[in-house]
Amino acid sequence: MAGENAAKKVVVIGGGFAGLNTAKKLAQKSKDLDITILDRHNYHLFQPLLYQVAMAGLSPGEIAVPIRTVLAKYKNVRSILAEAKTIDLQKRQVVTDFGPVDYDYLVMACGAQHSYFGHEEWEPFAPGLKTLEQATEVRRRVLLAFEMAERESDPQKMRELLTFVIVGGGPTGVELAGALGEITRYTLSRDFRHIDPARTRVILIEAGGRILPSFDPELSQRATRDLENLGVTIWTNTRVTEIVPDGVTLGNEKIRSATVLWAAGVKPSPLNAALGVPLDRAGRVIIGPDLSIPGHPEVFVIGDQACFMQDGKPLPGLAPVAMQQGRAAARAILADVKGQARSQFKYTDKGQMATIGRSKAVAESGKLRFGGTMAWLAWLLVHIYYLVGFKNRMIVLIQWFWAYATFRRGAQLIVNKEWRSFETPPMMNQEEPVSGTGPKFAQPQPTAASTATFPSGKPIPAQ
Ligand SMILES: Cc1cc2nc3c(=O)[nH]c(=O)nc-3n(C[C@H](O)[C@H](O)[C@H](O)COP(=O)(O)OP(=O)(O)OC[C@H]3O[C@@H](n4cnc5c(N)ncnc54)[C@H](O)[C@@H]3O)c2cc1C
Repeated sequence: MAGENAAKKVVVIGGGFAGLNTAKKLAQKSKDLDITILDRHNYHLFQPLLYQVAMAGLSPGEIAVPIRTVLAKYKNVRSILAEAKTIDLQKRQVVTDFGPVDYDYLVMACGAQHSYFGHEEWEPFAPGLKTLEQATEVRRRVLLAFEMAERESDPQKMRELLTFVIVGGGPTGVELAGALGEITRYTLSRDFRHIDPARTRVILIEAGGRILPSFDPELSQRATRDLENLGVTIWTNTRVTEIVPDGVTLGNEKIRSATVLWAAGVKPSPLNAALGVPLDRAGRVIIGPDLSIPGHPEVFVIGDQACFMQDGKPLPGLAPVAMQQGRAAARAILADVKGQARSQFKYTDKGQMATIGRSKAVAESGKLRFGGTMAWLAWLLVHIYYLVGFKNRMIVLIQWFWAYATFRRGAQLIVNKEWRSFETPPMMNQEEPVSGTGPKFAQPQPTAASTATFPSGKPIPAQ
């Protein structure tokens, strides 16, 4: 713990919407704080546009920006690439993969990760969409499915390759389904010679009674119609009971599909469980009116990681909630430093929107509900406005304009994870180097392209 006159050490874990806003606000308002921001990635990721990377519309660099670049002008902020492993609330220490970091104030803003509802074994066959790695893997699987369908002569196998199943009818599932519908409608017939677009199926599966359940029912219906016009089949009140390498099972029915995408559930950071503080049913830390953990006024938990009750309901996991809480946590710390009272947090809800495709979106704000081109333009403007980094905004605008004018996608690249050109000599494949002193090489990973597997990794039987 720092002495009375030493600069207070503020540690922020997570450079997402919440953490980045805390660090910026603190640095803008005080030069006397010693601020450290830790993140396991070196970049801030604009998650609302992840689906565009997954669907080959944008490249990863267009929706992410290095955290240290964003904060470079603030001399009292240190950005460190590190993963927080546990928090010692008594010692006031974050234990990271490079050692302990002491704090006077801690702001936890670690976000959420996918939940497969206890079926983590489904993940290899149905990647989710939370990180850039997942987005590029989804892009690889989708583009590979088209490439393999192009060279396939067996109609049954081609049908399997051209069947895309998306699990989860929230905004992410709807955006993925809409983008896939557009690709099959506009891109295939132009870029491929052998694929019959009529054989393509995009199936969106939702366990509840309607897609976009957090939206007004009329907007859900409108989104359903828009998706169906793009050729998407929507199955509501349907539960996935199993996901295997060649498809999904829905009770007694099996859909054979080479590409299954998961957009169904999230759970908060695993750091929460080890804190030993009250959590809600979803595993989020229950925080007080000033966003701190009750009994630990020096520890704030914000964004998707936290459960904040307002008007009797927990706030949803949305970027504006995270951003507003990020700034509010900074204000609370600044108030403490000045010896003032903290104020209570209140979320200002400006509404929500989801895009379906070209000139198609739904939006609601207060009593206002609308769809179509107006909603789509509003969606474009809001996303450009909140995208971090002037360069990224300009590039994304140009990409969107180009895509709109040409019906083309700007990032149709299949990038495998294997990078080496040469096979590893057999002796170097061993777990330990033979001499005991030489370098240790990793086992080469087979790539989908080199070993003829379905995009999900299932080997294609020899013909
Ligand atoms: C595909 C998708 C689409 C979305 N679309 C929308 C939308 O249209 N509108 C909307 O409002 N919201 C949308 N959201 C939700 C929104 O992105 C989240 O609510 C928001 O990102 C939450 O911000 P956060 O700062 O709490 O967490 P995040 O933005 O997830 O940031 C968490 C950060 O913490 C880091 N981190 C995590 N664990 C550790 C650790 N142990 N050590 C170090 N660093 C760690 C991560 O690397 C990450 O940088 C979408 C989310 C997804 C996934």
